[in-house]
Amino acid sequence: MSEPDDSSDFGDVGKELPESPDELVHRKAHSPNFDERTLPITMAVIHYTEMVDQGFAIERLCDPEAKVSAHYVIGRGGEVVQLVPEAKRAWHAGLSYWRGIRDVNSASIGFELDHPGHKYGYTPFPDAQFDALVPLLARVVKQYGIPRANVVGHSDVAPARKIDPGELFPWDRLAEYGLCLPIPDKLEAGDPFDNDAAFYLALERFGYDITDGHKAVEAFQRRWRPRRIDGEIDGEVRAILFQLLLDRDQGKTR
Ligand SMILES: [Zn+2]
Repeated sequence: MSEPDDSSDFGDVGKELPESPDELVHRKAHSPNFDERTLPITMAVIHYTEMVDQGFAIERLCDPEAKVSAHYVIGRGGEVVQLVPEAKRAWHAGLSYWRGIRDVNSASIGFELDHPGHKYGYTPFPDAQFDALVPLLARVVKQYGIPRANVVGHSDVAPARKIDPGELFPWDRLAEYGLCLPIPDKLEAGDPFDNDAAFYLALERFGYDITDGHKAVEAFQRRWRPRRIDGEIDGEVRAILFQLLLDRDQGKTR
């Protein structure tokens, strides 16, 4: 899949990255919870540990019985502990999905932020912790050429199961370093349900090649509404496509 526009451009725009290319890892602990990657590294996933302290978190992430791990744990004071070599597949994302990737663990580096989570009192992430994450993530993003659109939270890749790192994680500050996508400040698309661009995206998602939009709409009509084939995106054509897409993506059809 081609990804022309969302490659990381940190350093060119936004804030300058803090100086600390080396010495980003303060100590290592060995987790046995990893195996071999089957995909190249194209993602970074940010988590919180949801544990009362870092000691318990690392203990659990290194416990063979727990069968969970991450590449890095970042303490509340900024200590970076590496648990799994980056070349290996750590077990942090679980059952997940992002942009066609179903084995997110194989495709990602996992960062666990030591944090009580929603379970033990949800509080802002300390600055020291964020300041340790930024250069480490920047190095990883640069080294593997990870697109900004692929720097995500656990909840993004497992929305039915996970809510970490949660609404207090400062994505806006990370975006200032060019390390993730910013939240759009202008919404130009208008009503997405009354918008041709949205229709084309949905049509492509359903499966059609939309290089020639008009021809694609004609092809869609020929199959799904043969009574009028004019390449125009009218209300009925919209309704048919969205019904098809919803039914399919919600598993009502296969
Ligand atoms: Zn998580």
